[in-house]
Amino acid sequence: MDTYAVGFARPDRWSRGQSTEQSHPWHAVEAHRPAAELDGEVELAVCGAIVQVWGSQKWERVGNGRTACPTCRRLTTTARSLTSAR
Ligand SMILES: [Zn+2]
Repeated sequence: MDTYAVGFARPDRWSRGQSTEQSHPWHAVEAHRPAAELDGEVELAVCGAIVQVWGSQKWERVGNGRTACPTCRRLTTTARSLTSAR
């Protein structure tokens, strides 16, 4: 089961010189509740970015796209194959 919700980087947080944010706006958010319940909430992505949850998106699909945050993608992949990584 997918335990990650999808978050979109907030445009008002893009002004800190994080250029990667603009080309990779999608992040993974650890979902402690169903993604539909988190929809619209501001959460911390697994990479540490502040994002707004889009409950209608699936990380398993967005995470494979080119606009997904590389850090989030790596972290979620690691977590899936190596549960006790940390
Ligand atoms: Zn991220």
